[in-house]
Amino acid sequence: MCEARYSRQQGFVPIGVSGQAELQRKHVLIVGAGALGSGIADILARAGVGTMTIIDRDYVEWSNLQRQTLYDEQDAAEQMPKAVAAARRLRQINSNIDIRAHVMDCTAADLKELMASSVIDLIMDATDNYEIRFILNDVAYQYDVPWIHGACSGSYGVTCNFMPQRTPCLHCLLASIPLGAATCDRNGVIAPAVQMVVAMQATEALKYLSGNSACMSERYTVFDLWSNTFQSFRINADKRQDSCPTCGSHRTYPYLQTKAALKTEVLCGRTSVWIRPPHHSNVDLDELARSMRRSGNRVTSNSYLVQVEDGEHRIVIFADGRALVHGTADSVTAKKLYHRYLG
Ligand SMILES: [Zn+2]
Repeated sequence: MCEARYSRQQGFVPIGVSGQAELQRKHVLIVGAGALGSGIADILARAGVGTMTIIDRDYVEWSNLQRQTLYDEQDAAEQMPKAVAAARRLRQINSNIDIRAHVMDCTAADLKELMASSVIDLIMDATDNYEIRFILNDVAYQYDVPWIHGACSGSYGVTCNFMPQRTPCLHCLLASIPLGAATCDRNGVIAPAVQMVVAMQATEALKYLSGNSACMSERYTVFDLWSNTFQSFRINADKRQDSCPTCGSHRTYPYLQTKAALKTEVLCGRTSVWIRPPHHSNVDLDELARSMRRSGNRVTSNSYLVQVEDGEHRIVIFADGRALVHGTADSVTAKKLYHRYLG
């Protein structure tokens, strides 16, 4: 290997030669290979992180190329699975590291199997919905591995480190942080907002992996690049002490129980799929309908439901969070449409 490869990074005093050697020994799990996953994997591969496991269930589409920096037109034309296309590109960037790609849905069972079969040092959240983030949160606290949350939509982004033994978990923050308010499919997203979240997540990862975890942020950071606002909140006061089912003293890891997963039911003889959330939720139908109309969707609504047309599909959403997706008999497609509108 060329001696100069990591010279600039080693010249940065907090990392140095010893931090570089630490990076080489570490294994990072990146969940999602979309916009955030592309950017994080690119930085960590170039930085010389020894092993990366990348999970993604999706394939490359033309609408991804505006911000998903690991992919090109050929990947979109061939509809390459993102995990495969990402691994191919990352091996061209750094052939001295171990890249493991999995084309799969990120269920609680799959994640637990992965965590049990390999020594993962850090989990990066590059997902696009809170169903998976709560599973990541439970897995991370059960296996005592930190995870770094990131999300963006429009020109807005958030990031936060969740560290077992040190910070509250995502579950603890439920009451104080507005989660899942927006998704990038519905509101669009600009690439600089993605890169800002990527920069913050990757920097926190480099701190942890190079042995500088004392410098890691204990704040929930929110920004909007379009309106030039940047805020952060200390999260340690939000710890729910003993009552949290994920990080308290009587842990049940509720999102790892199979009954906690989003349930789907394909309707017999019809191209429709029912979706039921794991917990009863109160959807503000008026606000949902307004937001969809603002985004240019064809929407009809009454006091019990909102119906939105999306290409060949029609999604009917009820106030308790249930939805009926018409125009498909495939539960993965139906769940994807559900997350597009309900996060
Ligand atoms: Zn907690």
